[in-house]
Amino acid sequence: MCGIFGIHATDRDVARLSYFGLFALQHRGQESAGIAVSDGGRLTVLRDMGLVTQVFSEQKLRGLRGQTAIGHCRYSTTGSTQWVNSQPIVQHGPARTVALAHNGNLTNTEELRAELSSAGVRLSSTSDTEVIAALVAHDERPLEEAVAATMARIEGAFSAVLLSEGKLVGFRDPDGIRPLVLGQLDGDWLLASEGCAFDLIGAEPARELQPGELVVADAAGIRSEQAVEPRDSGALCIFEFIYFARPDSTLRGVELHGARVRMGERLASESPVDADLVMAIPDSGTPAAIGFARTSGIPFQEGLIKNRYVGRTFIQPDQGLRDRGIRMKFNPLAEVRGKRVVVVDDSIVRGSTTRQIVAMLFESGALEVHVRVSSPPIVSPCFYGIDMAGEDELIAAGREVEDVRAEIGATSLAYLSLEGLQEATRRPANSFCRACLTRSYPTRIPEDLRLAKLRFERTPV
Ligand code: SF4
Repeated sequence: MCGIFGIHATDRDVARLSYFGLFALQHRGQESAGIAVSDGGRLTVLRDMGLVTQVFSEQKLRGLRGQTAIGHCRYSTTGSTQWVNSQPIVQHGPARTVALAHNGNLTNTEELRAELSSAGVRLSSTSDTEVIAALVAHDERPLEEAVAATMARIEGAFSAVLLSEGKLVGFRDPDGIRPLVLGQLDGDWLLASEGCAFDLIGAEPARELQPGELVVADAAGIRSEQAVEPRDSGALCIFEFIYFARPDSTLRGVELHGARVRMGERLASESPVDADLVMAIPDSGTPAAIGFARTSGIPFQEGLIKNRYVGRTFIQPDQGLRDRGIRMKFNPLAEVRGKRVVVVDDSIVRGSTTRQIVAMLFESGALEVHVRVSSPPIVSPCFYGIDMAGEDELIAAGREVEDVRAEIGATSLAYLSLEGLQEATRRPANSFCRACLTRSYPTRIPEDLRLAKLRFERTPV
């Protein structure tokens, strides 16, 4: 998961607008940030490790001049905190120079890398983003044709913004797994992962890009084409609704905060419990906890205070501090003492955080800890850009709910049903990817990728 942003405007500080767009998208990735700017000829890129505010200064932004810009903030994944993986990535080819920022994950990277390599194209990283950029940079056809041809070759999840020949290009995979929204600022065109990036800079969201759509914004205005046929009615990642996207963003015409409150309401009617207070694991569990409290009639109260400044650049604690683990991030309030509490979270992946929180609440004097989860059990890995875990690490994979309850040490545990989740989104099931909940993937997943997922992702994030 990453945040991407793009703008073409003849008379604006496009780098500054990109900076603020990325700032609004910071929740989608905190590992690195970057902006590429072009004045039609020269292309300048600045990217580095850290948060948007850490990477850019007033002085650095002043050095980024042009009419077109793209930006990226990268999701933190295990073992990948390296500058080489920061974006936008730049590829120089015989046809053109390309800067690219990508949200998603390709599933046929290895095949394409082998093909590029046998054609003599040198790649400097193992990233799938570089493969997309290389395919466009080495395609002699006009830019839009080269991008459309690349879209037809790559598989998996890709929402991307590309900068080349002074043009801003945006494109989305035929399943529309990751979001990409088109916006307007007084006649200038923008692209962003989520509409919240437009709110901050005073732009208006126009519409979401369709699955398989390609748009180009340049001095001639904006053009759009259906570059590849969309599959069914799309397969937007349902976790964008559950957790990833900001609650003030709107996707598929649905405001996400409202959808998350409905998930909590439904959860309360599916799995009621006698308790004294409802609390959230902040911040992502809060809307569902509000919904749970509303339907159950049990008062909602803050029970955990979150330290919001635990970032990727965090200094590694010594062993004594590490033993206090979860307290780096959460501290319980005295409110829980002597109470039967309902703890609402959006999902459980490996279960280690939930287990520690349950233990901490009991230590703080809670009499009962009932865990309610506003999504169904995660039983299968994600191959589309969410570094959840391999199947052998997912606490719910191959286990009954009662076994998971025992492992996390809760008094009771219940998940939202798939039907309940679907109804809360107010969108039909066939418009979502729900593969990590159902094992039914919207695209082909090569066998070696399935095995790699099990082999390499063994370190908890
Ligand atoms: S597998 Fe799960 S996390 Fe990955 S895109 Fe599909 S719904 Fe989202």
